Amino acid sequence: MAETTEPVTMDKIVSLSRRRGFVFPSSEIYGGIGSTYDYGHYGVLTKNNIRSLWFESMVRERDDIVALDSAIILNPSVWEASGHVAGFTDPLIDCRTCKLRFRADHLESSQCGRKPSKKPGEFSECDLTDARQFNLMFETHVGALEDEASLAYLRPETAQGIFVNFKNVLQLARRRPPFGIAQVGKSFRNEITPGNFLFRLREFEQMEMEFFVPPDEADRWFHYWVDARYNWYTNLGLRESRLRKREHDESERSHYSSATTDLEYLYPIGWSELEGIANRGEYDLTQHTRHSGTKLEYVGPDGERYTPHVIEPAVSIDRILLAFLVDAYDEEVVAERQRTVLRLHPRVAPVKAAILPLIGKSDDMVTRARSLYESLRKRHVVEYDDGGAIGRRYRRQDEIGTPFAFTIDEQTLEDETVTVRDRDSLAQERLPIDGVRAWLDDALERPWKTPKGD
Ligand code: ATP
Repeated sequence: MAETTEPVTMDKIVSLSRRRGFVFPSSEIYGGIGSTYDYGHYGVLTKNNIRSLWFESMVRERDDIVALDSAIILNPSVWEASGHVAGFTDPLIDCRTCKLRFRADHLESSQCGRKPSKKPGEFSECDLTDARQFNLMFETHVGALEDEASLAYLRPETAQGIFVNFKNVLQLARRRPPFGIAQVGKSFRNEITPGNFLFRLREFEQMEMEFFVPPDEADRWFHYWVDARYNWYTNLGLRESRLRKREHDESERSHYSSATTDLEYLYPIGWSELEGIANRGEYDLTQHTRHSGTKLEYVGPDGERYTPHVIEPAVSIDRILLAFLVDAYDEEVVAERQRTVLRLHPRVAPVKAAILPLIGKSDDMVTRARSLYESLRKRHVVEYDDGGAIGRRYRRQDEIGTPFAFTIDEQTLEDETVTVRDRDSLAQERLPIDGVRAWLDDALERPWKTPKGD
């Protein structure tokens, strides 16, 4: 019987991510650049899966949401109108002694730079400034001149690109509320205290959907999206004991929001926001109407007109990936040997199956294994591996979360069957080699529940 060891620490996740090439610190050969990461092969594959699962549930499986890909650098007036130039700020405190910067609203969970570390302000030598507002938008200049007229911003959220295209979509995609616009893309925030690996980055990939509804339906749709997004995570295997809904009270809500619920995950740093679902009311469309002079409203066939209210589920792929890695990470002792395994949902796992000839030097096994590999790779990301002892090859696949391994052995040469090994239960069964493709298609469609419990 396998024994599981807890808890999962951030260090373990960082170390596995690095060891197996999911995520590396960016610009590492130059000493890195704070809290910026590059994704390696398995990181890219997993991110692609998360993105397409989100897109599938938001766009492909629905009739009422369309896709958009707007630019990262928008006309700076967009950010004046949205309130970001004036108000997209966090309160910043400097310590004149240790030269560190802290978010005034996160002092409780911050650490002073002095050893033994305490909260900022708790040492006699701490010399904290008053809080001042620090704008999180990255500035840049468009064109050859670096003057005020050329000032522009890297978008801190993808949502505004959606609002300014509201009219285009309404007319060209011939939509009427309730309908949504979904967008995935990079966002940039000059966070005061980035860190905790992928949790708080300065450059991250957001997935946002703005759902435009008749004003009197806003409350109903808000609750609908809170539930829909919660279920998306649990259907992908996230444990319910690690996921919760938390309503913001009035003092926490953004200036535009009349209701916000966070989906929080129990990361190694404690319960923290994974995704936010906000009722943004008519704030954004009204602001852009006022600033641009273009009326952003819905006019019905019988002349009714109104400014739709907006419900927004917003999340980053990076925070989802971190939650999935933490939730999936497991160490256990099997037959007196330790193994590390990522119990990822098969649809999230970067590689769906490994194809392994039991003896890498056997031409017959290699030929059959390669031919199975060629057939499976047409539909799925699969890996062929004939190097080293079979146990080590299995463990390598366990660490990247590959749910199934097909092994070609002596019996295959006699009866055209292979073994399939299950990553989680380690159970093995034999299948006809001809049936492997259909078996894998089917296995990837089946509902999946983590063996780690609820
Ligand atoms: P926080 O309170 O953690 O700073 P926020 O409330 O400012 O987050 P939103 O503006 O609601 O975040 O952003 C929506 C989503 O985008 C978040 O739920 C999170 O998934 C993601 N996100 C925001 N900032 C970052 C970041 N710096 N790094 C990674 N993901 C982020």
